[in-house]
Amino acid sequence: MKYHKIRKMDIANGPGVRVSVFLQGCAFHCKNCFNPETWDFDGGLEFDDSVIDEILSLCKDDYITGLSILGGEPMHPKNIEGTTRLAKAFKKMYPNKNIWAWSGFLFDEALKGKEVLQYLDVLVDGQFVEELRNPNLKWRGSSNQRVIDVQKSLKKDTIVLFCE
Ligand code: SF4
Repeated sequence: MKYHKIRKMDIANGPGVRVSVFLQGCAFHCKNCFNPETWDFDGGLEFDDSVIDEILSLCKDDYITGLSILGGEPMHPKNIEGTTRLAKAFKKMYPNKNIWAWSGFLFDEALKGKEVLQYLDVLVDGQFVEELRNPNLKWRGSSNQRVIDVQKSLKKDTIVLFCE
């Protein structure tokens, strides 16, 4: 798996001050995607265990609220194993910090039953749809996308939206 970049202090993608990792590779190619330079699965930098260690180290300070995992597409079959390893390692080291992830795949369809969900606090799911774009929405670009409380949704076996 490859990654595009790491943001050491991000206040735009999830609550509080976060470390964000943008993974490389997305096959959805949504019209007016915010990050088309992440589409190429062969671009970017190698994502290995040393990168996971670097991300974990960047998250150690108390002012870092959590980790955000974006794309590209973190849940594409080429990326989901690496995303799972990262999320699992993060939750083991920081059980009281949260993980937010963004994916074009749907929680209750392609992602149903995937191990990675065990480690996520919030998933913003659904592809970006230009016709449904609304700049006033928080954490998402178009109104079809859902900001899902993953752990509550797994427990109740139905979609529970995240409320601040
Ligand atoms: S899923 Fe996300 S990264 Fe992929 S094309 Fe759509 S907006 Fe871009």
